[in-house]
Amino acid sequence: MGFFSGTKTIGILGGGQLGKMLLTTTRKWDLTTKVMDPSSSAPSKIACNTFVQGDLMDYETVVSFGADVDVLTFEIENVNTDALAHLESKGVSVYPQSSVLKTIQNKGLQKQFYVEHYLPTAPFQRFDSKVALKEAVVKGDMSFPFVWKAETMGYDGYGVKIVRSNQDLETVNEGECLAEEMVKIDKELSVIVCRSPKGEVACYPCVEMEFHPTANQVEYVISPARVSTSLAKKAEKVALAVSEAFQHVGLLAVELFLTQEGELWVNEVAPRPHNSGHFSIEASYTSQFEQHIRAILDLPLGKTENKVAGVMVNIVGKEGYNGPVFYKNLEYILAIEGVNPHIYGKKETRPFRKMGHITIINEDVDMARKIAEQVKETLEVISK
Ligand code: ADP
Repeated sequence: MGFFSGTKTIGILGGGQLGKMLLTTTRKWDLTTKVMDPSSSAPSKIACNTFVQGDLMDYETVVSFGADVDVLTFEIENVNTDALAHLESKGVSVYPQSSVLKTIQNKGLQKQFYVEHYLPTAPFQRFDSKVALKEAVVKGDMSFPFVWKAETMGYDGYGVKIVRSNQDLETVNEGECLAEEMVKIDKELSVIVCRSPKGEVACYPCVEMEFHPTANQVEYVISPARVSTSLAKKAEKVALAVSEAFQHVGLLAVELFLTQEGELWVNEVAPRPHNSGHFSIEASYTSQFEQHIRAILDLPLGKTENKVAGVMVNIVGKEGYNGPVFYKNLEYILAIEGVNPHIYGKKETRPFRKMGHITIINEDVDMARKIAEQVKETLEVISK
């Protein structure tokens, strides 16, 4: 197939930490890679064969980047999908497919997709402007509280707001949006599914995501989720149905709400390596990154079971610090058993910027969670 003999190239759009971790596998297997990112100091730069600086949303730039690669993938969702579709028409294998990315790039289209495929999701309404949403509120078609979501370009909770009053409504951005029923969430779960072009499917065990109380960002990911076996199986079944509906190639992270009534609703999906799968590097037989590379090269998929429990804690910039990054107390946490730091290599810190993550492995998931908290309290990402 040429990839192991150095005659074929994998192209990766986006050179952030997810790309850097994908490159661990390509380096392990000596696969040739070419990466594009808008930043000249992208974390992936040190680990690819060829680095190109360029705009991922620009049609011509993406087409010319992809023209001489054999398989093209992405580690970020804000990529020009028309360019991907054009490359597909020219014979480049784009995985996940441009059609999958196009659907998920728009939260309204994504929600409609779930409805059309009879997949459970929170009730919602779409609006083409803030004015239209306000009118619906005045008419009584929408009532507080609800969750406002920008249809495009939101990430890590930046395009999401809980609206409890007219005053809150004033603060949301202009543009196409959806208003979603506010779910009474018991737990947020995630299941990562991987599919190969020949339709082989591998599903990781269900994990639990704990959010930072104010930043609306995942703080801890717990694998396996602390839920009953039957609920975990049910979550995995829903995720497999979502995967079947998309017919994607490569990874698909399926984020789910477990409601207080015990129902499982699909929140959203990500067709790429996902924060909720980082634990797999140390805790699983096959990491999500290796699994993605296996899938896009149409190789047999690896075993997804955990070897051991894993808890991942995101390392983000401390509030009040902007500038050249300094990791304080890293040496103390390294003295703790089962602690595996990943430092992404971003030069500048900002409050809540994702700078790295740490996975704690332990036979006992509750002990791993406890150590994760100790790690979080000890390590400080600051600027001197
Ligand atoms: P993003 O794409 O920015 O990650 P999400 O749609 O996943 O945005 O929303 C971010 C977080 O906001 C979710 O993980 C959840 O905690 C909360 N949230 C989103 N939708 C709802 C909802 N309908 N009801 C209650 N909380 C929600």
